Amino acid sequence: MTRFLDVPATYRLVAEIGVPRFLSELAEAIRADYLRWSDFDKSPRVACHSRVGVIELMPIADANLFAFKYVNGHPINAERGIHTVMAFGALASVDTGYPLFLSELTLTTALRTAATSALAARNLARPDSRRMALIGNGAQSEFQAIAFHTLLGIDEIRVFDIDARATDKLVRNLAAWPALRIVRATSTADAVRGADIVTTVTADKAYATIVTPDMIEPGMHLNAVGGDCPGKTELHADVLRMSRVIVEYEPQTRIEGDIQQLPADSPVIELWRVLRGETAGRESAAQVTVFDSVGFALEDYSALRYLHALAQEQDAGIEVALIPPPADPRDLFGALATAAPAPAANAAATPALADAFAFAR
Ligand code: NAD
Repeated sequence: MTRFLDVPATYRLVAEIGVPRFLSELAEAIRADYLRWSDFDKSPRVACHSRVGVIELMPIADANLFAFKYVNGHPINAERGIHTVMAFGALASVDTGYPLFLSELTLTTALRTAATSALAARNLARPDSRRMALIGNGAQSEFQAIAFHTLLGIDEIRVFDIDARATDKLVRNLAAWPALRIVRATSTADAVRGADIVTTVTADKAYATIVTPDMIEPGMHLNAVGGDCPGKTELHADVLRMSRVIVEYEPQTRIEGDIQQLPADSPVIELWRVLRGETAGRESAAQVTVFDSVGFALEDYSALRYLHALAQEQDAGIEVALIPPPADPRDLFGALATAAPAPAANAAATPALADAFAFAR
């Protein structure tokens, strides 16, 4: 049987543990998997683009587990009253191919993205960073705020969104975090001024330049989350040119990240090298660093294996028969015939099924 974790079960699981602990443990799981980078069979995600959005599949495997995520990105969806980003995914045994775990990943994507951002920033931002600008106050934003508060000790966040209702919602949701001072800014430039870390997490299917070179101060770290698709950027190309750029998986980020604006041989460093201590994250207090995040399948692998372990431990979710029982694995048709009503009795109600049986005979 395959364990299935739906949205209400995931809410309960996260609420039980609490968002800060969940983020911390998830960041640790992601770090542990990045440290064994060479164990993974990796590829850029497969994307189906349309005029208004993208639907992507993100596979990855090590010797034991295969994981995939289905995820979309439709900035227009807010106008339709549905999420910009929605996801689900599965974990399977490499040895047998059997799907072990099927899970919601919309909430989990927000948690894993925030955990990854904070993990990267812990290795890239100045250790004395306390103030963050948060541009884009939509679905991902509170998770980013809480991750940076919990994992880096950020205690002031200057927030801005072109939609004031998004900022109202963020301010309301973060009222429960009194140690986190939220300051409403009047523009991106106003939010960024004096910030140690700048997080951009906007959604617009456009070559946007939300952060421009005139806004950059020495020693800033930029956590650029929203530029994650061809034709969808957030940073001015000159911001990238003046910075040390860290990416998750170069072959994918060249296609999707803000660095799509730069030549294919522009210098970038993969995050796993920094986490393993093979190269410095930041080389000086004055250097400007950019984490050009697009979201990599390894982070979803980590999230799925962490969630699966939690769900098993707390007996969360339900067991579903996703795969036919293996009474006689060669007799798939016999299992159907045993389980389904006899075709003759059912013919009037389901002619298609009856036809299928007739054809098979
Ligand atoms: P959302 O639609 O809920 O929120 C996006 C917010 O950005 C909205 O409130 C919108 O008003 C605001 N915005 C748009 N243009 C802006 C601008 N020029 N200045 C300021 N604010 C602006 O979307 P979301 O789920 O929060 O996702 C945000 C972005 O993050 C999306 O682009 C998504 O694709 C991306 N994302 C990346 C990763 C990753 O791993 N890198 C993971 C998840 C989501």
